[in-house]
Amino acid sequence: MSIASSATLTLAGLVLCHAAQAATPAVPSALEDSSPRAVELSRPGAQQGSVLARGFAVGPYAGTPEQAALAFMDQHGAGLGLPPVALEAARSSTWRDRTRVHLRQIHDGVPVAGAGAVISLDDAQRAVMASAQLVPDLSVDSLPAISLEGAITTATQALALPLVAPARAQLWVLPDARGGRLVYRVQLWPDQPGAHWRATIDAHSGQLVTLRDMRQSAMAQVYEHNPINSGLVDVELPELDGVDYLMSEMAVVHTMVYDGANVALSQTAVADEQGDFFYEPDDEIDIYDDPFAEVNAYWHVTDIKQWFADDHGHSWGGPVGLTVNYRDSANGRYDNAYFSKDFAGDYTIVLGQGTIDLAYDADVIQHEFGHGIVDDLCDINAELDYPISFDQYGLHSAAHAVNEGMADYWSSTFQGDSKSAEYFGSAFGYDALRDLDNDRKTPDDLLGEAHEDGMIVGGTLWAVREAVGVPIADDIIYGALSSLSSAPTFLEYATAVDEHAAVAMADGDLTQADLDAITAVFEERGWYKSGRAISIADGEMEQGLFLGADLLAGYVGSSACTLARSFDGGLLFPLPFQFSFTVPTDVEIEAVNIDFGLEKATIPNIIDDDDLVYSFYLRRGEMITFQEYNLYDLIGMDFTILTDVIDFDLMIDDEPESVRLEVDDPDLPLVPGETYYFDLAGMNCPIMSFAIAVDFELAEIEEEPKSCGCSSGRAAGSALGLLGMLGLLGLARRRR
Ligand SMILES: [Zn+2]
Repeated sequence: MSIASSATLTLAGLVLCHAAQAATPAVPSALEDSSPRAVELSRPGAQQGSVLARGFAVGPYAGTPEQAALAFMDQHGAGLGLPPVALEAARSSTWRDRTRVHLRQIHDGVPVAGAGAVISLDDAQRAVMASAQLVPDLSVDSLPAISLEGAITTATQALALPLVAPARAQLWVLPDARGGRLVYRVQLWPDQPGAHWRATIDAHSGQLVTLRDMRQSAMAQVYEHNPINSGLVDVELPELDGVDYLMSEMAVVHTMVYDGANVALSQTAVADEQGDFFYEPDDEIDIYDDPFAEVNAYWHVTDIKQWFADDHGHSWGGPVGLTVNYRDSANGRYDNAYFSKDFAGDYTIVLGQGTIDLAYDADVIQHEFGHGIVDDLCDINAELDYPISFDQYGLHSAAHAVNEGMADYWSSTFQGDSKSAEYFGSAFGYDALRDLDNDRKTPDDLLGEAHEDGMIVGGTLWAVREAVGVPIADDIIYGALSSLSSAPTFLEYATAVDEHAAVAMADGDLTQADLDAITAVFEERGWYKSGRAISIADGEMEQGLFLGADLLAGYVGSSACTLARSFDGGLLFPLPFQFSFTVPTDVEIEAVNIDFGLEKATIPNIIDDDDLVYSFYLRRGEMITFQEYNLYDLIGMDFTILTDVIDFDLMIDDEPESVRLEVDDPDLPLVPGETYYFDLAGMNCPIMSFAIAVDFELAEIEEEPKSCGCSSGRAAGSALGLLGMLGLLGLARRRR
């Protein structure tokens, strides 16, 4: 196909880069190449400030690692396609002989939430990899109109709970499509197990913007040994020699105990005369003062914690705090588990007594612990809502998919079992809550929900583990995770794994065949094409799901459709990615036909309402941007949705099934070599499946008709063109 090069402007820089690394054993010499030109050569074409670049070695730099990282960005940030923004050093970490310096973006001295870069330095202090998520064009006034104390007062009054520690506040810039918003973030620690709240106060108006319970990742999952697929084994609990209760440098466990309406945390597991903790489990009935739950939770947390310390050199400041038998009322059930970090950076894990006791399921415990590892290694999750994430470019599924998928992966790889939470799942009639031995890929299987999309991440990395072996897979996956910026895409994580695999090969720990196997897995699962936008070449097709209000049915019931359209602007659902095409320069085309191939998806539990309301949007050269809106004002829920499309050059409404874009359109001509981004967005009720095909219609009659790019063996281009023309007759077009 002649249009294979159409990806060049968007993704090919990175793809070519990984291909070059995979095809040649010249990685060591590439690492030794200290020519700054290498950076230009691997220019990855940053998409809206997000980039991950590798395949160069710049330096060595003098000074501290922090100074080296800042100097590198100063000299080469623009070469990587990144916007010129101010950065400061935040923290550093190490993997093998590499040092990662985390840089934070600042706007007039105020940190920008979720924005920064991670620069990897080799042992000679040369920059060898860069990952960045930067925000261009911030214009918000960085001078607050209200004081820090005023913000704390507003936040404390809004929470209206007694605090166990003084509240802390800090000024932040929240990025959006309109130049950013200046806010105070106020951290509050009320007297609740594992609780940690965050209030956001507008620093100009003083208004409370949101108030959020920071206990995250509802639901647990992973595990390994539980009452269903394993028996009881004797283990040695670490660091408990001569101790009466489950309390050590590694972990401290409490049980939630109700006395009437009063709730307290108590330690019910007590050492016997030999200093041992032998208790019998009981998984038949709900037990609310269950010493075995304490012992089981303590063991599985300390077991995996020791593994991360031994195998990955991971370190912690203090013990993991665990609460078992958690529930909302004395005889209530609580089918959930939480992970949170306290203000010292230590983990807190809360395990419910639900339909089953979640502390009996090692996968649940270790999945939550895995969130801590993800959190320690990179700042994923910084700004995106959970479990469905929108930002100004639409749906951003990858970051939370990485978070949930990696929590599953750590638990599963540690236990050597792809299935997660068999015991917890059994409470709801499932063999397991999730299984990483799957074929899921992007964009085909993206649902927009973190745990579901995490199956793509966990499943892909499980396949990498199967392909190259366990210890080395765990090592490079751990290393790659620590090199990612706050909102990684699938493309970025795949590229980071490639980079770390190349280092491992240079160290003699992987073969070229291993590298090729890893590349093949990511290619097969769609990771290399899945940046923020997916480029579609002539004759190619991408498929997946176009979400609708049915997505919310699980949360708000059958009124989801009505609710989604009930307020100003409505709730806008875009495609899981923006897509793009590049107008060819080697052949002259007359038009670009895009067929959306929409059909109602057969997902269970959807509302019986086939109403479709959506439009087509197109923008030249840059991604389309959306208006974000936080629902806190409206329904007291801190959740960002999309209500409007801000930046676009062309809109076609009335639910087009296909569009035909003419090259010579006087209002929006299609320029050879230029990339155009497009999306569908609307307020559909049902979830639709899409199969988007792009077809370039050649100008006039070519001398060599057989060179036409349309005959690629899928639906005839002429039929698509006809559909497009028919569609156009009834279309209203709006431009701006
Ligand atoms: Zn989770």
